Amino acid sequence: MSDSCAVPGLLEFEQAKNMLLDIVKPVIEIEDIAIEQAASRVMAKPVLATMAVPPHNNSAMDGYAFVWHMDLNSAVELDVVGHSFAGEPFNGDVGFGQCVRIMTGGKMPADCDTVVMQEHTQHDNGKLRIDTLPAKGRNVRLAGEDIAHGSQIFDSGHCLGPADIGLLASIGVASVSVYRPLKVALIATGDELKTPGSELKDGDIYETNRFVLKAMLNKLAVEVIDFGIVPDDKDALRQAFLQADQMADIVISSGGVSVGEADYTKDILAELGQIDFWKIAMKPGKPLAFGRLSDSVFFGLPGNPVSATITLYQLALAGIEKMQGKPQRQRAKFLATCLHDLKKSPGRMEFQRAVWMVNDDGDIVVDSTGSQGSGILSSISNANCFIILARQQGRISAGEKVWVEPFDSLLSC
Ligand code: AMP
Ligand code: MG
Repeated sequence: MSDSCAVPGLLEFEQAKNMLLDIVKPVIEIEDIAIEQAASRVMAKPVLATMAVPPHNNSAMDGYAFVWHMDLNSAVELDVVGHSFAGEPFNGDVGFGQCVRIMTGGKMPADCDTVVMQEHTQHDNGKLRIDTLPAKGRNVRLAGEDIAHGSQIFDSGHCLGPADIGLLASIGVASVSVYRPLKVALIATGDELKTPGSELKDGDIYETNRFVLKAMLNKLAVEVIDFGIVPDDKDALRQAFLQADQMADIVISSGGVSVGEADYTKDILAELGQIDFWKIAMKPGKPLAFGRLSDSVFFGLPGNPVSATITLYQLALAGIEKMQGKPQRQRAKFLATCLHDLKKSPGRMEFQRAVWMVNDDGDIVVDSTGSQGSGILSSISNANCFIILARQQGRISAGEKVWVEPFDSLLSC
């Protein structure tokens, strides 16, 4: 099958991203699920509000509802003719010179248009004295001011956040149509890798990538199928990729994509499918094999933990989210003053790990988390942002402005 590994030079980061976005297709299968289960899931159909929220005018304060009139002035006295509590409305008439005791959320009596907060009144023996007369309409929440009856609240492709689930509940919707969850197979490759909890032999290390990648994927509401650790053995790798292709929409492996003696991942992927690109002008993460198997797409991420984490976060994620049916994620970025010099050679776009903060003068500053080696996972763990340096950028001197991209929820708590 075709293999673009032979293409000389490195693919631009944006070009690689656009290429993979062109290739991946969103899932189309839909399922109905209870709203309690719908957080982080993607709407497959728009939702129309069949009622207004709030459904009726109601009080925003504990106080007294009355009919505002221009002849009313402070120190006026009104007769208290009833009460309206949340869930227990007052259904009688309220005339001029009268009022109704009302609690927050209590339905406004039909004629009333204004609520005076109780702190601005004195109530004695069925008579209410208003010390400070509010303006007409004050302290009233109007029917439909949150959601109008008949309005569309979500379009398909909308990813449901916590408040969205609340909005659905507020219009009485108990279940929604969402796209089915993506199935993502995770494979770690390497003879040296051992599972935490087991004993290390000389030369072994504990397997890290699956834990980082799974923690990120779990935040995306995908279904992770964990293939564990596969040794650097062509047959074992072939078996694992074939099975993963059958079971999953996306196969994500880490390790074995460079040019070492035991780096078979790329060869096996090229044998079983098609590699669309391999080398990207990004640091960390230059070797990243993206392509297609029979029934899935794959990301052969680099083995170094920092590279695996960042290639998933900065690149593979775009494809995963498109397959989930979501629009492209927009990440915030801003300019910050760099506190120390940064090493950088022209040639690759860099995602350096750093901490941004606001200094005593109110300026946004940023400082590197230190050594930027692709095996130094603490450079991400100690960071709260990336400093993003363009491909042709050289070294940065302290005091220069750099682009900072704060970690989003995928990389932080
Ligand atoms: P590779 O791309 O397989 O040559 O791996 C590059 C580096 O990353 C080597 O030092 C590996 O030991 C390390 N590595 C590969 N996979 C993992 C993993 N899953 N967890 C931790 N380190 C890994
Ligand atoms: Mg390896």
